[in-house]
Amino acid sequence: MTNISGKIKELVKTAKKEVAVGDLERLEKLRVKFLGRKSELTKILKSLKDLSVEEKKKIGPVANEARIKINELIETKKEELLAEIDRQKNWIDVTAPGKKKYLGKLNLISQVQREIEEIFTKMGFEIADGPEIEDEWHNFSALNVPKDHPARDMQDTFWLESGNSQDEAEHNERKTFLPRTHTSNAQIRYMETHQPPFKIIVPGRCFRNEASDSTHEHTFHQFEALVVGDDISVANFKDIAQKFFAKFFGIEDLKVRLRPSYFPFTEPSFEFDISCTVCGGDGCKACKGGGWLEIGGAGMVNQRVFEASGYSKDKYQGFAWGFGLERLAMMKYQVDDIRLFADGDLRFVRQF
Ligand SMILES: [Zn+2]
Repeated sequence: MTNISGKIKELVKTAKKEVAVGDLERLEKLRVKFLGRKSELTKILKSLKDLSVEEKKKIGPVANEARIKINELIETKKEELLAEIDRQKNWIDVTAPGKKKYLGKLNLISQVQREIEEIFTKMGFEIADGPEIEDEWHNFSALNVPKDHPARDMQDTFWLESGNSQDEAEHNERKTFLPRTHTSNAQIRYMETHQPPFKIIVPGRCFRNEASDSTHEHTFHQFEALVVGDDISVANFKDIAQKFFAKFFGIEDLKVRLRPSYFPFTEPSFEFDISCTVCGGDGCKACKGGGWLEIGGAGMVNQRVFEASGYSKDKYQGFAWGFGLERLAMMKYQVDDIRLFADGDLRFVRQF
């Protein structure tokens, strides 16, 4: 009898060990093994009928308890395993690298335009606007561009169909239209409706009939500056330009240099250079060893432009410049191909 009790206790012990390391599939096999019809325990329970009443009373409950105990072990383990599976399903690995979310943002050209606008606004400039589709008068003639100037040529300018006569006697410049070739048209538009003194910048899109390469695009941006008053001089221009470029490039001792040049709309005219933003003027690859970088054209407003805008001759003085926005962005952010700005390549866009 003690022998049978001992055997039952042994069974429970073994069941406990095996259930502890079982998985779901194995648990069902263990259930059959320990509680099934051919199991040791069942055999013991069946053999009770051959025992004496006294023995039945003692062993019966032990065997039943063992049966309940083993069943409990299996059920508890099963619940544990199911809970674990559930936990793994909802598990978050906090150490796994996250998925990068990209926010939409402004194109680099728009960003640079805003930088420029902010610097000039702080210097007391107003931001003006002009039409992108302009007539021949405002884009060329009012700016003193001669009728035979190559800029007016079909090879340089996109002309819109207007049905206008090309016969000089009948030709009406105010009814001949083109996508503007520079932002300078806005000078005339502004002066037609405003009296000096004023300081404006005009950022905007321009169009030229050009083949694209790494430094040319048919569609590009300029920003025009125009300052007009009673006593504006080249010194004012140099001072404002120096302040602007020092701020824009973040180089306090940035120097400016003017070289004589020719533009129809300014007299005198100059090409404008700044000390190299890479080497500071010592000479490097970016400035081809010269220490200076070309920025664009500028000059004192030609009195003929004032007259075309409705001002009296020699009453006012002013300076004007037109700089390429792409060129400034390329210099500041080391972009080596102008076509990158507009081609939408995300690898480029996301860098800025
Ligand atoms: Zn340099």
